[in-house]
This record gives sequence, C-alpha cells and structure tokens, in this order.
Amino acid sequence: MNSHKKEEFIPKSKAAGSEAKYKISLEMDKKGKFRINSTTLIKNISTDDWKELVFYFIPNIFTKSNSPQLATPSYVSIKSIKVDGKKAKFSLDKDTLKIKLSNELQPNHEVIINVQYDFTLPKRGLRFTANENNYFLAQWYPMIATYRDHKWNKEDYRMRGETYHTAFSDFEIQYKLSNNLTIISSSDDDTYPSEKSGILIGNDIKDFYIALLKDPNVIEKKIGDITIRVFGVDDRKDFHNDILEVASDALKYFQNTIGPYPNKQLDIILDELGMEYPGVVTANSIYGSAPVNEDSLKSMVVHEIAHQWFYGVISNDPYHDAWLDEGIASFASRLFYAQYQGKEITVNEELYKDFTLPVNLSLDEYSPKEQSTYIYGKSQEMLFKVFQENKAEQQAEDFLGEYYENYKYKEIDTNEFIRFLKDYLNLNNDAEFKGWIKMDKG
Ligand SMILES: [Zn+2]
Repeated sequence: MNSHKKEEFIPKSKAAGSEAKYKISLEMDKKGKFRINSTTLIKNISTDDWKELVFYFIPNIFTKSNSPQLATPSYVSIKSIKVDGKKAKFSLDKDTLKIKLSNELQPNHEVIINVQYDFTLPKRGLRFTANENNYFLAQWYPMIATYRDHKWNKEDYRMRGETYHTAFSDFEIQYKLSNNLTIISSSDDDTYPSEKSGILIGNDIKDFYIALLKDPNVIEKKIGDITIRVFGVDDRKDFHNDILEVASDALKYFQNTIGPYPNKQLDIILDELGMEYPGVVTANSIYGSAPVNEDSLKSMVVHEIAHQWFYGVISNDPYHDAWLDEGIASFASRLFYAQYQGKEITVNEELYKDFTLPVNLSLDEYSPKEQSTYIYGKSQEMLFKVFQENKAEQQAEDFLGEYYENYKYKEIDTNEFIRFLKDYLNLNNDAEFKGWIKMDKG
C-alpha cells in the first residue's frame, strides 16, 4: 500500500501536439457588440507536417443558422484571417474553423494566425451566453485543437458535456468596455470594480474566461495569498456569505489534500450553468433547469472548485475521458463533505446496477439522459469501491495528493490513470475494473 517502498513510478503525459500563445484584443460597444482581434502564435510539436490548422470556434454554434431554436441567437462575422500576415483561405462549419497553410508547417516550426471578427452573445446560449444584465464569454476566441494520432483531435460540438479540448496555453488579453460593467476573468489581476480598459494575463491555463457583470454584490476573503471573491447577482447577501464560507473551507481542504491552488484569485459567480474555468467558477443551474436550491448550489460550487485541480492542473480530454475530471472532482468533493459534515462515506454500487456501460466512453457513446450518471456518479462510486475493497479508504486523500504530484500540468487518459491507480494500490491485474472501465480504448 505504501508507494514509497516500491520501484519509482514514472508518470507518462499525453502530448498535446500543438502549442499556442494567444494575444487578443476585445472591444465591447454600448450595444453589446464585441470586436475581436486575435493573434495566436502556434507551434507544431507533433511529428507530422501540417497542411491546415483546426480550431474550435464556438461562437458560431449559436448563430441563427446553427441554433434556429434561439429567440436571440448570436451574430458572428469573420472580417479577415491571415497566416503570417497574408490573407488565408478558411472554412467554417458549425464550430470547426479550418485554416489552410500555403506552406506546410513542419515539426517545431511556428506560424502566426490572425483572426478578426465581431460577435454578439446569444441569450439562452450555453456558457457563451448573456442574460438581462450580464455577459458570459466562454470559449469566445478561436482555440487551436490538440493534434494526436496523426490528426487534429476535434470532435463535433454537443449541447451536453464539454466537447472542446485545449492544451495549457499563455494569454494576453487587452480589453476595452464602453458600458458600466465589471470584468471578471481567468487572470489573477482582476480588480473590483474593474477599469474600463486594461490588459489581463494568464499563463499555463487551458482557456481564458471572461464575465462582464452589472452591479454584482461582491464579498471577498483571503486564504493565505489567495483571494476568494463571490459575485452575487441577487440580494441574498447572507447566502452569498454562506457560499464564501463553504468555498473557503473547500479551498483549504483541497489545498491540504491535493496540492496548491494554481492561481492567486478564485472568482465565484452565482449565475448561469455550473461550470469550471481557470480561476473562475459559475454556479446557479444545471442544463436547462431553473436555479437549483441553496444546498445544491453550495455543493455545485464545491464541485466546480475541485475542478481547479482536476481540469485546471491535471488535464484530460473532456470528450473522450470526461470521467477523469468529472468523476475525480466528484470523488474529491465527496471526501471534502465527509470531513466537513463529519460523516463516513458509505459505498453503494447498487445505485448503479441498471447502468451497465463503462464510465469512460466518449460523450457520443452515451444517451444524453444517462451521460452524467456514468461520468459523475458511477465513476466515483466505483472508485470508492476499489479503495474500500483494498482496505485503502483512509488513503483516498493521500491518493489525490500523489496523483497531483505525478500529473500536475500533464494530460492523463484512462489507461494512464488505471496504470497509476494499480501501482498505488499494488494491484497486479485488471479485475477491479471489469465491467466499469473500458480498457485500452483507442
Ligand atoms: Zn464538473
């Protein structure tokens, strides 16, 4: 059980294949139209020559033609695309932006891509959305896909789950606002209230999130050198305080159990879909639902905070291995609640007896109705069962710490996770994973 006595375990990281540095300017006018000038330095770190680059361009999912069901769709207009300063050919289909390279890009070579475009946010979009007062810019710029197995790893957009996978990147965002909104972002440098213009930096983060809020109720607290800020969009000030308290306890617990929180600021916005972004979480509702009740909202905040480690620091492809961030974030949250409420964890795999699929299928292999039951629910239940059967319940916390130490700022997949877990628990076969993990999937 004690991994220190064994031969040293050497973690393997899945290579991203592409590397990017983003420099983006964003200007918002009084009517809510955004003008973007995005310049990205992209490096080919694969072994293939590239004839084209493939980006996620998610704003285009919410236009009138792609989302006819929306009463207020987004407006998106690409003004120009340049490769190393020269006008380039491109195609845009749903959220897939392909840019042709007139000269092939060889391994270890770089190219500069400039995309100028305008957009408005849809109402009732998904993550990339606006409501009466506030604007939520998730995945709002062209994000380079990862490249692996000799192809671009870009899957079709889906309305459930996270269908985009990006590598750790550096960002410099220059913004200018004309409305009286405050900006909250993935950068550690946000102030409240924010300036009308400025530059925001974020390094080694998976994407760059921005929210623009109108007159939020803001409270904050310092935990060591980390500032937690809660942005309430209603007048339940006592409840915002409760959220700040539970978030502080969760942050302390996760730091002690897993490892250091990766940023200096943790912003909690109590509006929109429960979701994690680097340095920011949003929490108010789940897919298409009305706002959840106060207790559910607290546990949603805790879950999204856990993602700052399992997504934010240890990366995984959320399309093909969603259980690795959702399941482990749920596992860590359950450990937090067990000590927070002084309760023991009782494993009950019976809850999932009618769910006979493995937990690590790709998103398109689940029915939308059952997807979450597998990737959030069954995954963590079965993981607790493995610890219980190996008399290692007391070590679940230690496991998370070792996991962090081995995989921080790396990307992991199911096979590698199982390899690590087997090493940690001294398992010499795959019997524990029969029936709930699909081994060696391509
Ligand atoms: Zn989650």
